[in-house]
Amino acid sequence: MRPLLAVAAALPLVAVSAPAPGEPPAKPGRDWEDRFVALPSPDNVREAVRRLSARPHHVGSAYDRENAEWILARFREWGWDARIETFDVLFPTPKERLVEMVEPRRFRLGLEEPTVAVDPTSGQKAEQLPTYNAYSTDGDVTGPLVYVNYGLPEDYEQLDRLGVSVKGALVLARYGRSWRGIKPKVAAEHGAVGCLIYSDPRDDGYFGDDVFPAGPMRPKDGVQRGSVMDFPSSNPGDPLTPGVGATKDAKRLSIEEAPSLTRIPVQPISYGDAQPLLAALAGRLAPESWRGALPVTYHVGPGPAKVRLKVAFNWDIKPVYDVVARIPGSEWPDEWVVRGNHHDAWVNGADDPVSALASLLEEARAFGLLLKEGWKPKRTIVYCAWDGEEPMLLGSTEWAEAHAEELRQKAVVYVNTDANGRGYLGMSGSHTFEHLVNDVARDVEDPETKIPVWKRAQAKALADASTAEERKAIRGRADLRLGPLGSGSDYTAFIDHLGVASLNLGYGGEDDGGIYHSIYDDFYWYTHFSDSDFVYGRALAQTVGLLVLRLADADLLPFEFADFADTMQEYTKDLKKLLERKQEEIAERNRQVEEGVFRATSDPRRPTLAPPKEEVPPHLNFAPLENALVALQRSAERYGKARAGAEGRALPREVLSRVNALLIRSERVLLSPEGLPRRPWYRHLLYAPGVYAGYGAKTMPGAREAIELKRYSEADGEIPRIAKALEDEAALIDSAAAELERP
Ligand SMILES: [Zn+2]
Repeated sequence: MRPLLAVAAALPLVAVSAPAPGEPPAKPGRDWEDRFVALPSPDNVREAVRRLSARPHHVGSAYDRENAEWILARFREWGWDARIETFDVLFPTPKERLVEMVEPRRFRLGLEEPTVAVDPTSGQKAEQLPTYNAYSTDGDVTGPLVYVNYGLPEDYEQLDRLGVSVKGALVLARYGRSWRGIKPKVAAEHGAVGCLIYSDPRDDGYFGDDVFPAGPMRPKDGVQRGSVMDFPSSNPGDPLTPGVGATKDAKRLSIEEAPSLTRIPVQPISYGDAQPLLAALAGRLAPESWRGALPVTYHVGPGPAKVRLKVAFNWDIKPVYDVVARIPGSEWPDEWVVRGNHHDAWVNGADDPVSALASLLEEARAFGLLLKEGWKPKRTIVYCAWDGEEPMLLGSTEWAEAHAEELRQKAVVYVNTDANGRGYLGMSGSHTFEHLVNDVARDVEDPETKIPVWKRAQAKALADASTAEERKAIRGRADLRLGPLGSGSDYTAFIDHLGVASLNLGYGGEDDGGIYHSIYDDFYWYTHFSDSDFVYGRALAQTVGLLVLRLADADLLPFEFADFADTMQEYTKDLKKLLERKQEEIAERNRQVEEGVFRATSDPRRPTLAPPKEEVPPHLNFAPLENALVALQRSAERYGKARAGAEGRALPREVLSRVNALLIRSERVLLSPEGLPRRPWYRHLLYAPGVYAGYGAKTMPGAREAIELKRYSEADGEIPRIAKALEDEAALIDSAAAELERP
């Protein structure tokens, strides 16, 4: 692989053969990269997707275990040292599911996804998990129905202004805009007794395209299964063993003590089932932005529709099978490059997760071939196929907790994928690896346009940018920005709990669909509507494989701090802007309350209440953070110079060992041992899933969420904690630079 300038798009980007015999490689390692990139094959990706998605394979199912064993056998066949590690976790499955409208007429919801004739695996009824939300509590509740839009805190502020309460009611929320577990959490906080979640066709049904099987979108009776665990405010993983691995003898909480289960019963439904419920709501008209694409007038309620929801679960302990495979490092065996993707699915899961798992397996096969040809990675490579991701990151979290001490010592990085499609490379993760990921993306060819995937991602960012300022920033910056990691996949325990620098990668954007967590996420759907010739499956294997090669074989680890320092400047600016915006908004709203604006503009036939007056946020002291940023900037520049100066110089092994050890610690330093306020499992001071977002990241979360939740004195205490972590980071970078500067 040759590094390419973005403008050299017409050159062939991917060498398809090794250098001619006898021809010395320009740079050691380059020939192995060339060799590696030629190996992944779309046919193999296709065959693995077909095999692994042939039957339903959720936690505890026969095919889940068969898949784990099949994956294990492949790793062994390819020369890896592989084994299965088992954990015992709480995994509820439904015993009883009943949703019934009891007024104004009786009507029982189907809760059933029908077989589709052209789709052969959609009829595997005996092995499919029914539609349900895992970690909903048991319950039997009846009450008037209220439509709450996406069920977010701001939706309830709107309901307050409409004078509508959900106390004693069942809420009907639509999927989207948050982790699904946020919806029952917020509903319970407002006094609701039950929660139904449906997929509106505006979001992933016929509004977007034709529905399955004619098109990729969600059909009338398609249902999104999924976990509703309240992991953002407690912890992901097994609810009974927070903070420790769920091994046989682990101390377990009782189910009643588990902090992450919902407080009210929850059930997901299709839009076919939701339509008659919505049609039976009267009361206030839903605000315009709340209306979906069903052919009904969206009312909020409460009632007259009255609904009964009854759910009961088998609260079983089930095994999860993590496949863990290693290639030992030849020079630094105690520095680990960890790579993972889950293997369990809600049903057949051809897209989620098998499409990307198949790429992981192609990387593993290619590394096996390189081993036979004499390649020896300098660092240990650890490949993981996780079980139990869907219920709540069970396999990865329990493994990370069980091996916490060793991972803290040895893990250089964790690289995650989870589903892959057609389109643009999505990149998020630790900003100390931003430059490395950008470099890799410059060296991989996009299958559709034949330009580097980096160039295509940049084009997409430009096309999507909404302001001239944004476009200027994209054009003027050498590297594309990595998104921050929130949660929703297996990197969570690595980055948030252990402080292992983590990355999450995948292709997508041209593979819109509405089969997520339904029985239609299968080989038929994937080969008709997504990466049907599996060329993006190959591109993902090339992208991640190159990344792993560079991390495993670099003498000096490719951490870099200029992009990181720049990103911390941005996050600080965002924080200050957030506070200013809140100050202006609240001051203006208070003023309008005093002026009687709300009273005067309330339509007496459709009255709205004035919002309550609120305390205007005080000014906060950002000085500690600003001082830390100056130090960080200086250290990052110094390290960049020291690193450039060391290039081409043979560094003594002891120096490399010392610098690499410091670099590995550079993400650990960003943790606080006490963790974030009210959620000590989350220890990273720069990234966390939002307590009321779930998937979405909050950057500098202690301070940001304190401002959002109006805990201003808490924010004042959090800013110095973040500043201290950045000061420590700057000091660590300085020590690494000093080592490299020695003559
Ligand atoms: Zn997944």
